[in-house]
Amino acid sequence: MVAKIIDGNAVAKQVRAEYRTRVEGLVALGCKPGLAVILVGDNPASKVYVDKKAKACAEVGLHSEVYRFPADVHQDVIIAEIAKLNADPSIHGILVQLPLPPHFQIRQVLETISHEKDVDGFHLYNVGGLVVGGIVFPPCTPYGVQRLLESENISVAGQNVVVVGASNIVGKPMALMLMQSEATVVICHAKTRDLAQFTILADILVVAAGVPNLILPQMVKTGAVVIDVGINRLPNGRLVGDVDFEGVKKKASYITPVPGGVGPMTVTMLVVNTVQSAERMLERTKGLAPQPSQVTVLA
Ligand code: NAD
Repeated sequence: MVAKIIDGNAVAKQVRAEYRTRVEGLVALGCKPGLAVILVGDNPASKVYVDKKAKACAEVGLHSEVYRFPADVHQDVIIAEIAKLNADPSIHGILVQLPLPPHFQIRQVLETISHEKDVDGFHLYNVGGLVVGGIVFPPCTPYGVQRLLESENISVAGQNVVVVGASNIVGKPMALMLMQSEATVVICHAKTRDLAQFTILADILVVAAGVPNLILPQMVKTGAVVIDVGINRLPNGRLVGDVDFEGVKKKASYITPVPGGVGPMTVTMLVVNTVQSAERMLERTKGLAPQPSQVTVLA
């Protein structure tokens, strides 16, 4: 068996085209979706991600602003900036690029973002929504994985899904979203004993550990769908995922490459969340505006 390679760039392109049309519709109604990104310090990877986010916004027709601060900025300055953005009607999505420098209390910063503009989905309100099934802003990377599975009509209901990695931004929300879609979900992490005994049972295997070559062919069931979220830079400069792509591709039914798999989807789903936020805000504003039938005419 040779796996079909799921082309994340192609799916991302298709989603962006679909949302460009939706943005045109919003602009026609006088609402241009806007994203504000807060970047603290000069982490080179963070700078690259922020540039990609701004570029994706421009491509789909969104307005975006990047607020840059030095690494030693006081947390209160960031909180005050977020408060201003919360009140700014031209901004529909706010994100703080992680990681933040060590002197920050990350949860306190994330909780300051209005949950109605929390396009990364990291506010406790939105995390709670994931748990009870009322998802407003699905976190972008798991949302991208979900969209990739849909693009191939891969149904998750009733499937055995194993998620390797249990971080707050990828593994845990991924597992919750898959559970919401009625998959049977197992979560593995760095302390899991004998990882292979779990991965071999997976109909769908999602790997987000940040360890190159963690998943070898003998750990994968024949015909499994393998989604590689990992991004690792090898000493020779090559970018690889967590899966032995060449080996596993001979056993899986579908596989995502790195680069060109989940990565392009993450940025795209951020745009999607921002557009959906703008649509919801417009809906709310329209609801507040007096409709012709509600206007009382005084005789
Ligand atoms: P993280 O370091 O916060 O979490 C890693 C998780 O993997 C932890 O739960 C840890 O217990 C688990 N883990 C580590 N080693 C393991 C092992 N040997 N066996 C089983 N589990 C193990 O990382 P993260 O932020 O969740 O990111 C994970 C990977 O995904 C990284 O490579 C990151 O660069 C990548 N990533 C990619 C995208 C994308 O858009 N493609 C987005 C976010 C993260």
